[in-house]
Amino acid sequence: MEGSSVEKFEYKAEMKQLLQLIIHSLYTHPEVFLRELISNASDALNKARYRQLTDEAILDKGQELEIRILVDAKENTFSIKDNGIGMTREDLTENIGTVARSGTLDFFKKMKEEGKDAGDLIGQFGVGFYSVFMVADEVNIETRHAASGSQGYRWTSTGEGNYTIEAIDKKERGTNISFKLKENAKEFAEEHKIKQVIKKYSNFADFPIFVGKDKVNTVEALWRKNEADVKDEERNEFYKFVTNDYEDPLASLHLSVEGAGAEFKALLFIPKKAPFELMRTHQHKTVQLYARKIMIMDDCKELLPEHLQFIRGVIDTGDLPLNVSREVVQASPVMTKIRAALTTKIIQWLQRMANKNEEEYLTFYKAFGPLFKMGINADFANRDKLIDLLRFESSLHKAGEMTSLKSYVGRMREGQKEIYYLTGESRLQIEGNPNLEYFKKHSMEVLFLFEPVDVYNMPSITEYEKKPLKAVDKGDIELEGADKKEEDALSKSLIGFFKETLKDQVEDVRVSKRLVDSAVTLVSSDKGMDRQMERMMKLMGQDVGSSKRIMEVNVDHPIIQNLSRRFLANASDDLLKKCALQLYESAQLMDGELPSRADFVKRMIEIMGEATK
Ligand code: ADP
Repeated sequence: MEGSSVEKFEYKAEMKQLLQLIIHSLYTHPEVFLRELISNASDALNKARYRQLTDEAILDKGQELEIRILVDAKENTFSIKDNGIGMTREDLTENIGTVARSGTLDFFKKMKEEGKDAGDLIGQFGVGFYSVFMVADEVNIETRHAASGSQGYRWTSTGEGNYTIEAIDKKERGTNISFKLKENAKEFAEEHKIKQVIKKYSNFADFPIFVGKDKVNTVEALWRKNEADVKDEERNEFYKFVTNDYEDPLASLHLSVEGAGAEFKALLFIPKKAPFELMRTHQHKTVQLYARKIMIMDDCKELLPEHLQFIRGVIDTGDLPLNVSREVVQASPVMTKIRAALTTKIIQWLQRMANKNEEEYLTFYKAFGPLFKMGINADFANRDKLIDLLRFESSLHKAGEMTSLKSYVGRMREGQKEIYYLTGESRLQIEGNPNLEYFKKHSMEVLFLFEPVDVYNMPSITEYEKKPLKAVDKGDIELEGADKKEEDALSKSLIGFFKETLKDQVEDVRVSKRLVDSAVTLVSSDKGMDRQMERMMKLMGQDVGSSKRIMEVNVDHPIIQNLSRRFLANASDDLLKKCALQLYESAQLMDGELPSRADFVKRMIEIMGEATK
């Protein structure tokens, strides 16, 4: 292909900015580039090994799979070569030319504004290949895909605005990435430095890595060893190697399962933090599937139910044939059995953690709770266990502290029959909800729920240890020992007036037992849908309408008493109607659903006018 033309491509606009951010954020972790390159090479080798099983015509069949790194301290150069799957022209434009998944840049900027550590950020995204621009001004990739008859290509870029691709003659399959090191990254032209970094990170690559003439890593399948023979440190490094995370995992689990219709070994991890993609796009990675030490799938979501898809690590089974397609693997009954066994083991693991190490469990729960909790309405076989694993903030605990239903029940006051909770958008909003006043006054514990998944889950958990669960903003709440408040003649007529004034806007107006400081509040109708649930449904584009609310009135409140007196004196007093509407709309405002701010403010000014006459 001598003389073939060089084609020039622009990075997407978002990409340019992202590159700059990556380069400038990562300077404190320059060795990251080496990990990323080795990890990519190792992926490419795994793909080649897998393809070798089915593709007779694959290039360089039977060649020893390996990674070779060459450095030259005089010339300041670095190169890494693998004989893996290689890249087509399309791979180069699709996978190398774009790293940003949509929304990455915004998220990245926001996290930086919040002062998050750069290393941390990168850990969450896996910015991958582009980290080379931390140590190089210009990068060269020469690659050829393993399919027979494929064409070789050279990709070149300074990582700034564009890159070029040209066809080249390349005999062997695989990829060679080379560059000159920047002045401040010269140390990576030294063999001893490279060896030191590899020893730290990449000891678990499945393939030999050579630096110059020396093989530097020991290839071992850690998950096949006995648990007792593996040091914590080795396990942690293995985790980092498999996931590209920069931190140690939160916890790990070594499994060797026989019987249960499946035989497998596994080394599983829970990360300390949720990856960026977890809840947004579900593009996050889960576990790798090996069949007798050969990786057959890099991200095998089928092995875990959705709510446990935060688990990372490796599962290796002898029950799957190697040379079958992924589709057959995915449909195999062996997969169903492994998945069932894994689900049981992972839940037991979380139970042990919750019992033994609350802090660790809460770290897990805060990171992955939103996903994990979806199991409540999906995994009915384990529902009770999952319910026991739920944690909540509560009115008796400081923000950030959490409690279980079990310990809530242990603290219930004599005579209390129900478990109380309140949903809202945030702790602050919940704490300001007038419906909590009675509970605050009587120091009765209320669980605070502010994650969307809670709004779905809680109404489905009707009781726990025979105690019904009850939202405190429901109309039909029974308050044991509540201060007896009865409608006297005064307030009775005023309540009648409120009903008449508000007409169809509310389902009913009633005397409140739950208010202490506020004059009025809105509660859900006994049969109607919860306000939070309504909001959720609307967010999901389902028009459920707004069910009418019940207005409750605190007859001990000075304003209400004043209004009663005024009403008796002159039932057609103009101010009465304004006050009734104003009280109702104030309650709507607290509830987060005020339809017309303009009317509300106008009326408030009028009332102030009267008061200051
Ligand atoms: P990630 O590895 O997270 O997908 P990278 O930016 O590191 O992101 O790499 C992007 C993609 O480029 C890879 O998914 C792979 O398709 C391709 N790639 C990178 N390095 C190699 C390599 N050495 N051999 C083959 N493909 C590669």
